[in-house]
Amino acid sequence: MPHPCLTCGACCTQYRVAFHWMESDAATEGGVPAELTERLDAHRLCMRGTYSDPIRCVALDADIGRRSRCSIHARRPSVCREVDASWEFGKASEQCDKARVAHGLPVLTAADWRWRDDADNDDHPDDSGNSPSPPALPPPIAA
Ligand code: SF4
Ligand code: SF4
Repeated sequence: MPHPCLTCGACCTQYRVAFHWMESDAATEGGVPAELTERLDAHRLCMRGTYSDPIRCVALDADIGRRSRCSIHARRPSVCREVDASWEFGKASEQCDKARVAHGLPVLTAADWRWRDDADNDDHPDDSGNSPSPPALPPPIAA
């Protein structure tokens, strides 16, 4: 079963994504691509597409409720990293629940995370792919 965020994307269409200008790659190498941001005030930028309604972050590549990916996942702003999916870490997330309900999706429950108990459960947005195989064991040493 995939990580629920990979079939959702709802929270990237509900909130203004604002952050300090220092997070931009204009100021910090490897930061948020500056061309995807706009000035919010003297100290903050926001992701384009999230300043006003209808909100949809310009970096979102998704068919909400079917498939979703952040096209700048490794370089997304800190505020995006702080939004947990409900029950991923043992508690509900108001932002996640509200966003999913706005799209007619059911809120996540603890049952949506049982797949993590499977042995090969590495289907997570933060994974670069399947985890490498464990190193082979050395041959047994003859007694
Ligand atoms: S955090 Fe919640 S609303 Fe956001 S993509 Fe994941 S499941 Fe959807
Ligand atoms: S930067 Fe990525 S994670 Fe953040 S709102 Fe945009 S699409 Fe979503």
